[in-house]
Amino acid sequence: MICLRCNNKTFYTIPEARIDQEYKGLCLTVITPGVVCKNCGFICIKNNQLDSLVKNAKKTYQNFLKKKNKEFVLSHKNIYNM
Ligand SMILES: [Zn+2]
Repeated sequence: MICLRCNNKTFYTIPEARIDQEYKGLCLTVITPGVVCKNCGFICIKNNQLDSLVKNAKKTYQNFLKKKNKEFVLSHKNIYNM
């Protein structure tokens, strides 16, 4: 694979790349295994890491929903406490 930014061909693998990924219409920052360009630091995903990206995007989305629900419940609790 070739770096999209600088055409460099050497990368190293990192276990926790932060990828901005759109999932079900939401832009989420997904932590997933990825590769970093040794020359310019550009982060991308190799073909064999796509499965993990999809899996982690799903997990991030579910955590996002859980957090949203919690905030929703808390905001309603505040209303009732008034
Ligand atoms: Zn590069």
